Amino acid sequence: MECSRCKHDATFHNFEFLSRTPSGETIFYTCPAKGKQREMTEDSILDYIAHMDEASSGGWYWIIDCNGLESFHMPSIAVLQKFLTLIQERYRFVLKHVFIMNINWKMNILLQMAKPFMKDQAKERLTVVKSKLQFFANGFDSHTISKLNM
Ligand SMILES: [Zn+2]
Repeated sequence: MECSRCKHDATFHNFEFLSRTPSGETIFYTCPAKGKQREMTEDSILDYIAHMDEASSGGWYWIIDCNGLESFHMPSIAVLQKFLTLIQERYRFVLKHVFIMNINWKMNILLQMAKPFMKDQAKERLTVVKSKLQFFANGFDSHTISKLNM
């Protein structure tokens, strides 16, 4: 399955293979504000899943870059809940950790809204990154980390 929107316009969403960890897990990066889509709707959930399935053939890490995110990018509570529920079921064994970088106050509110829909395991696998050193601590190499702007 491929994303129905990016099939026609590769810049509609921003999902990038950044690199692999020494043990072969994929490091996947997304900066939603770099994509053309403004609002995340219920229809976009399947498209997001299509992108994430590309990353998840084995274990993977997900870096979410909040740079440039505005209120209009925010999903509704209903969409947020549906998305989080789906991710936690589908990638329960392969999504190793989620890193949120360049968080701003708007995205911090979204994160607080998301927490009631997250299981303990998901909360443990989530880090709001304040320093690049936190990527080193998770085994990312310096070349990978140098690609990240924060
Ligand atoms: Zn897409």
